[in-house]
Amino acid sequence: MLKKILIANRGEIAVRIIRACSEMGITSVAIYTEPDRYGLHVKRADESYSLGDDPIAGYLNPRAIVSLAKQTGCDAIHPGYGFLSENADFAKLCEEQGIQFIGPKSSVINNMGDKTQARDSMRAAGVPITPGSDGNLKDLAEALELAETIGYPVMLKATSGGGGRGIRRCDSAAELTTQYPRVISEATKAFGSAEVFLEKCIVNPKHIEVQILGDSHGNVVHLYERDCSIQRRNQKLIEIAPSPQLTPEQRSYIGDLAVKAAQAVSYENAGTVEFLLTGNQVYFMEMNTRVQVEHTITEQITGVDIVREQIQIASGMPLTYRQEDIQFRGFALQFRINAEDPKNDFLPSFGRISHYYAPGGPGVRVDTAIYTGYEIPPYYDSMCLKLVVWALNWDDVIQRGKRALDDMRLQGITTTTEYYKQILDHKDFKAAEFNTSFVPDHPELLKYSEKARPAEMALAIATAIAAHTGW
Ligand code: ADP
Ligand code: ADP
Ligand code: MG
Repeated sequence: MLKKILIANRGEIAVRIIRACSEMGITSVAIYTEPDRYGLHVKRADESYSLGDDPIAGYLNPRAIVSLAKQTGCDAIHPGYGFLSENADFAKLCEEQGIQFIGPKSSVINNMGDKTQARDSMRAAGVPITPGSDGNLKDLAEALELAETIGYPVMLKATSGGGGRGIRRCDSAAELTTQYPRVISEATKAFGSAEVFLEKCIVNPKHIEVQILGDSHGNVVHLYERDCSIQRRNQKLIEIAPSPQLTPEQRSYIGDLAVKAAQAVSYENAGTVEFLLTGNQVYFMEMNTRVQVEHTITEQITGVDIVREQIQIASGMPLTYRQEDIQFRGFALQFRINAEDPKNDFLPSFGRISHYYAPGGPGVRVDTAIYTGYEIPPYYDSMCLKLVVWALNWDDVIQRGKRALDDMRLQGITTTTEYYKQILDHKDFKAAEFNTSFVPDHPELLKYSEKARPAEMALAIATAIAAHTGW
């Protein structure tokens, strides 16, 4: 078993990994940059080391991180999500330097991180993919010609993209012509690669993804699916496990398809295969070769500790579970509580958290790195808390979600909390009938997102809590 792990990340996911280490008797090492000096991951890890003043550079410096891991006697690095987690060169450097990278082999990251190469591998393995480019596009002329063949609308996508960025829907040749240079420029800035490709836009699909685990002995299992159709601008807001929109036949078909996809690339460690579903048609979209933000909801319905499994797999141990051992029970929802203002086009709202009171009670889990008095730095992700609720059935999990969102007090910044309550109250959400167009189709939900809890009322409650608890 691994003994000492460096966590090449920050925020809630670093804390999540430190918690797993602590439960497993493994020493944890945090890294941070100066703006993150007061981060919870720095306080909670067994050891912490600064990687400089620049807010981001330290987290993105493979050489500095690997050499720190060696100096401090770590035998492994957990990359979390974002930052270097899907950087094949980083994984390769770890392999060369004798540090265990907690994730798949660098060659697999390379292959799946490139969305056109991933499409090739899936096509070869007999996994259905969306109609589209065979490889990267050479130029606009090729894009226009291909779009005519597959038919509009099309999606223009950054080959190395992630986090919902570098994707544009184009409904006509004129739109494709305008968007082409924009996507290239966004891809270059965000991902350091100008490569783009094109695929058919599936209209109003459901985003269904399957959590998989593979060990170094060739075993692969799936932990059922998540429904991430509640998105804004291709970014997930609320995630659900299992999907309340699948028949048992669809569920078992998609689960098997994900295992087939993972086996085709000899996948090791935790990963997610993302699909689009329309009617009864399933298309492979991409594979994320890392732990995902929403791994929490799968943990709640299956009881499997995904981060622990990742560490055990990286230690060379076989999977704890066979497919038939994995059951799921009830439903779980995850709300990505972002420091953003839904009423102001989701503008980031960084600043000091004057009061934070965590939701609790039955079926509630919170993954976060914030605390009262914490100042959210403006340099990173705007997600500041993941609120996860679990209940035995769909109606109850919605009620529990509303109650837990009501429980929480997060003051000093504007968040998406009230907006999520409006979504939970919508009849289509309650009826479990929604797709990736739900958010854009319901702009009226934004209008009410403040009314539910007027600022004065929030202030009155905060004052009452403060008086009661001596804050
Ligand atoms: P998930 O895929 O786990 O549901 P996201 O797509 O929101 O979550 O990505 C998680 C984090 O990782 C976000 O901060 C996102 O910006 C970042 N990220 C994802 N993919 C990439 C990538 N290819 N390059 C850089 N950052 C990425
Ligand atoms: P990222 O790497 O940024 O997560 P994805 O390829 O997973 O990018 O796409 C993100 C989201 O964009 C999907 O969840 C889906 O809502 C939308 N999307 C991507 N490709 C298509 C497509 N071909 N048709 C319709 N929607 C798509
Ligand atoms: Mg994706």
